[in-house]
Amino acid sequence: MEKIDYYLKELNSEKIKKAILVQSRLIEAARDFLTSEGWVEILPVIISPITDPLTDYRVRGEIECYGFKYQITKSMIFHKQIALTTFPKIFCLSPNVRIEPPERMTSGRHLIEFVQLDLEAREASREEIIKLGERLFTYVISRVKETCQEELKFFGRQLVDFEPPFPRISYEQALTSYGQDYELALSRSFSQPIWLINFPIDQREFYDREDEKNPGFLVDMDLIYPEGYGEALSGGEREYEYGKIVKRIKKKGIDLDAYNLYLDFAKKGLYPSAGFGFGVERLTRFVCGLEDIGDTRLFAKKPGLYSL
Ligand code: AMP
Ligand code: MG
Repeated sequence: MEKIDYYLKELNSEKIKKAILVQSRLIEAARDFLTSEGWVEILPVIISPITDPLTDYRVRGEIECYGFKYQITKSMIFHKQIALTTFPKIFCLSPNVRIEPPERMTSGRHLIEFVQLDLEAREASREEIIKLGERLFTYVISRVKETCQEELKFFGRQLVDFEPPFPRISYEQALTSYGQDYELALSRSFSQPIWLINFPIDQREFYDREDEKNPGFLVDMDLIYPEGYGEALSGGEREYEYGKIVKRIKKKGIDLDAYNLYLDFAKKGLYPSAGFGFGVERLTRFVCGLEDIGDTRLFAKKPGLYSL
């Protein structure tokens, strides 16, 4: 098939059209929920001298402007922390570019360009953010069940009314019970969303907060979808004290100079905070019950491929 015919087929696909409609309603519901609770939406940062290190992503997206190097946003984590200077509770529909390994082309869950519903709150604890996540998730699902009946029928999707609190399992328990492939195994074994908590420090980036009562482990969490759909969101409490951040960056073997600007803010005093990033395409995939995340947006970019 000619490339243009492939794109035209996609642009006219009933499946993609309906999935994007559901997505648009999901975004509307999430915005309504958050703004009604006092959250302020900020516009996304696409390029910056600093972005999430995500050390397992080997390739850095970079562009040069006026002789300076900008990183293409892999996540807005640092900007979220800094933006709490201006507002106590912020969210953003943040486009991220991550050059995922080509092996993830057929995972059904990975794109190299995707959007996070990314939020962060001053002085919040993980517990508060978990509860917020449960309310946000159940609210958007119930709204879409009302507003997208025709689309959900098209997909043959009967969504359950999940009842918070969702079960929790620690990383260590998950690893013991399910082995290295714990994320998918856990996702396949549950019929409701599950919180995976307390990741070890070496499994995550330097900005999630180390648990003072449980050194070596973080005050963080992932939400895992049921039915094998895998990870929905990641979040946690954040390190905000200059000395601790420096220690964590050094422990990762990352050059401190790369984070100069962020460290200057930390020196002046960042707020303690917690938050999460919720993948919008993955949420759409789950709600519509789709195999392939590529069906959740126009111009989807799969790892390893070159597309419009
Ligand atoms: P992370 O902080 O890396 O966990 O990313 C936050 C959320 O963004 C994840 O929980 C996913 O929902 C979503 N996400 C991360 N990477 C991708 C990807 N390559 N494609 C689509 N969604 C992603
Ligand atoms: Mg994650």
